Order: sequence, then C-alpha cells, then structure tokens
Amino acid sequence: MEEHLRDLDSEEVHRHNNEAAREIVDAVRSTLGPTGMDKMLVDANGNVVVTNDGATVLQEMAIEEPIGKLLLGIANEQVSGVSDGTTTAILLAGELLTGALELLDRGIHPTTIGEGYELANQFVKRELVDIAVPFDAADFDAMRQVARSATNGKGRGVVSQERLVNVAVETVRGVTVDGHIDLDLIKIDKSVGDTAVAMQVHDGGLFKGEPAHPDMPRTVVDADILTLNGQLKPPEVSEVRARVDDHQGLRQFHEDERTRTDVLVDQVRGLGVDAVFFVEAADDELARRLAKRNVFAGNVSRPKIRFLKTVLGSSILPDLSRATANDLGYGHVRYDSAEDWFNVESEGTPGVTVSIRGSVEQLVDELHRSLTDATDAIGEAVDDGFVLAGGGGTEVELAQRLRSRAPEVTDRRQLVLETFARALEAIPRELTRNAGMDPIEAMIELRNEHAEGNQYVGVEPTEQTVADMRELGVVEPVSVKARAIDLATEVAAIIARADGMIPAEGSQVLVRSDDEEADDE
Ligand code: ADP
Ligand code: MG
Repeated sequence: MEEHLRDLDSEEVHRHNNEAAREIVDAVRSTLGPTGMDKMLVDANGNVVVTNDGATVLQEMAIEEPIGKLLLGIANEQVSGVSDGTTTAILLAGELLTGALELLDRGIHPTTIGEGYELANQFVKRELVDIAVPFDAADFDAMRQVARSATNGKGRGVVSQERLVNVAVETVRGVTVDGHIDLDLIKIDKSVGDTAVAMQVHDGGLFKGEPAHPDMPRTVVDADILTLNGQLKPPEVSEVRARVDDHQGLRQFHEDERTRTDVLVDQVRGLGVDAVFFVEAADDELARRLAKRNVFAGNVSRPKIRFLKTVLGSSILPDLSRATANDLGYGHVRYDSAEDWFNVESEGTPGVTVSIRGSVEQLVDELHRSLTDATDAIGEAVDDGFVLAGGGGTEVELAQRLRSRAPEVTDRRQLVLETFARALEAIPRELTRNAGMDPIEAMIELRNEHAEGNQYVGVEPTEQTVADMRELGVVEPVSVKARAIDLATEVAAIIARADGMIPAEGSQVLVRSDDEEADDE
C-alpha cells in the first residue's frame, strides 16, 4: 500500500498533523473550567448528546486521523487512570504539538524536541512535589473542596453541585476503612423512568429483585447470610432419574426430593442461616420451605454476589448443600417493595450503593460521570496525600520555575524548555478566555503575582479575577495533573519525532499514484 502513496516531505506531514490536532483541541478547549461551555453533539444514531466533558466530546467525534486517535488515546488513558483532567491533557498535548512544529520550523531537530520535552516533564514533576499542599484524609471539608473542583461546570441537570459533592463525600466515607479508600466497593444503581432526578446513598448493597417467596421476611437484621453463585435448589440425585418413567418410581422420586429438600432446609437452619443470596433461578418448593422457616432468600446478579461477599464477609458457595458455619457472612437485609430492591448492609464493613434516577438516560449518565469524577478525585487526593492549587495556578507556577531554570541548559533544549513553559500556560489562558476575561491582561497579572511569590494564585472565573486558589479551596489531586502532563508530553514527543506518519485515508495530503487507479479498473 505504501508504495502507492506519494512521498510526503516531513514538513507537509507535520503541518497536516498539526492541523488535525488543532481541530480536535479546538473542539474541547471551550469546555475547560467552571465557566466552560456545554457542547451539543449528534452521535452516529442521531441522538443528541449535551456534555461539558472533554473526553465525551472526543468519544462522540468520529475521529479518523492518526493524530486524533493518539489524542483520543490520551483522553482514554487519563480517564482510566484518574478520571478527571482529560481536557487539560488534550489541551496541553495540542499546545506541545504546536510548539514542536514551531521549533521544527526554527531548525531544531525532532530528537532534541523530544529530549527537551522529557527534561521539562521531569523538572516539572519534581516541582509539583514542592508546591503540593498536604491533604488530610480525615477532613471532610477538604474532601468537599476536591470534589467541587472535579465537578465544576459539569452537567448535572437539576442536581445542585452541593448535593452532588455531599453525595460524593458520603459515598467515599462509606468505602473508607482506616484511612484507606476502596472505590471498587461503590456500586451505582441507575434507573431511567418516569421519575424526578434523585441521587441517594445506601450503605452496603442495593440489589434489584424480590424475595424468592412472598411469605419470606422483608427485613432481617443481625442476619447470618450465605452467598451462592448458583441457583437455589435441592441437591441433585442423578441415579434416581433412571427409574422415574414408571409410576411408582416417579412418586418415589418426588418423595425423595421432598426429603432431600427437608434435610437441606434443616441443615441450613441448623447453621443459623437467616438469609441466602443466589444467582439465577430458585426451586419453588425449596423457597416455600425456607419461607416457612423464616429464612429470606433473594436473587441477585452474578457480579453483585462478589460485591455482597465483600460487604458481608461471607464466602461464595456453588450451592446450598456445601454450606458450613465458616461460610456465613453477617449483616442486615431490608426489602423495599415500593422500589423492588434489597438493601444489604453490614456495620463497619465498607460498601455503598448510590442509586441515580432520572427521566432521561443522558441525564442519568452525565450525573453518574460527575459523581465518578468527584469520588475518583477524592480517592486520588487521599492516595496522594497532597493536592495542588487549581484554576491554572499550578501551571503558572510551574511555567515560571521552568523559565527560570531554562538558562542552565546551555544547548538548544533551552528553547524547548521555554516552549514547554508556554504550553503549560495554555491552561490558565483558556480558563480566563472561557470566563470572558482578557487573557493577556489576566496572564500578566498572574505572572506578576507568582513573581512576587504568591504561588497559589490562579483564575477565579466566576468573579472574573485572579485569586489565591488555596484560600478559595480550589484544589485538585496531584496525580491528576501529573498524569495529564505525562501523557501530553509523551504523545507530543512521539508525534514530533514521527515525520513519516501517514495521514488518514481521505485527507487532503493523501495522493494516490496512477498505477493504483489502473489497478482498480
Ligand atoms: P478537565 O477535563 O481537564 O478536568 P475541566 O473542565 O474539569 O477539565 O476543568 C478543569 C480546570 O478547571 C482545572 O484547571 C481546574 O483547576 C479548574 N477549576 C475547577 N474549578 C474551578 C474553580 N472553582 N475556580 C477556578 N478554576 C477551577
Ligand atoms: Mg475536570
């Protein structure tokens, strides 16, 4: 295939790549920050998606360009790593790319650019450690601040940001033990229906379903509980099968079955079991007898059995007959017939379920995304133990420190470091622009503040001013920023070096040779 492509000179490739990158960066730039705008997109199925989330914007764009795919890769990597900071990562990558092109124009070798960017990245990472502020995992106000920064400007429909932030903090508290957070123990239960938007946090698990028999107890507190990853049924006795075709045999079979069921129910009751969770179907007769003995049994999906196991401290069993006292978990079960769900919880054991309801799927999804942004950010801050000033304050400070260090590098990489510093400033610049401020004025003001040693001063978009972000409580996890800078650096360096990158099919610089056309005929 490649011999059919006209040889593009590397400048053409770079220019093309740069243009493609611009287009993508421009699509997300206006969403940055609390005063960022929503984007309205139409997806492949004609559905309208309204979002303020950079990653979502990119996912909805049908991107064919290799550059676009790389940038989308950044967004996905950032999301899978830390959830927040995608727009920041994309913007930085775009600026670093444009900067790289200018450096190439000035005759700087791609390898030098790659090395310079990497050097800048390492320097900036060290400085991040220096300017980070300790985060106290026991301080719920600090958690609220982080959650607020992560959800600013995000579409929440009719749920207020304070409600969202409080739900996030409550959720995180429900999965924290001894200062350690396990976000895997958060279950989200989404439902779309003819209902007002609501978010609720429930301790433990919330499971769609109903008791296996109507006579079963609705509430079992202080329950000893078994969790099965199979059906609720009496043990099979395969050799009886052979004789069930004669009348006598069939009766015998049913009697045996009743006996087996009785034995099983006695055995289960003997262990002190008050409740059983199982997957798939239940044997009616067994369910009836369990109900008679006041044992609750409920059907949940397979992944939820694992969640239940953790919440209750039980073991997962293949079937009821294998149960021993060691397999029992402990907790409380409540069945809500109005909602058709069970709430299962256990004191001191982490695990929460957040129910999110709304009338429109997009709204529920956006709410889910915002909640995840908030809980992930809190989780990151706790893990890091440190936070950074938001509002572009950190980027201004990093740029300034990088500029002051650049002269120490006496070769051409000095220019590359300066380019890197300018790219960092794209974040505060974009925040001021989205706030309707004069970016030039604001940037001068920010630089002056930082030159005077006010290292936390950033953009306050709502008031259209610059202010101390730490005092305002606009802080974000260190790892979010560090990762965004890492990814942007990596991808910009790859693209700068790749002067042979082939643009996507159908783009204007792809030229087919005459032989190819001849082949087609
Ligand atoms: P990203 O996808 O990069 O997280 P966002 O749209 O969430 O993009 O914007 C994040 C930027 O907005 C960060 O630089 C953050 O510091 C800033 N930000 C968030 N809340 C505020 C606020 N209240 N005041 C100033 N800046 C804020
Ligand atoms: Mg964000």
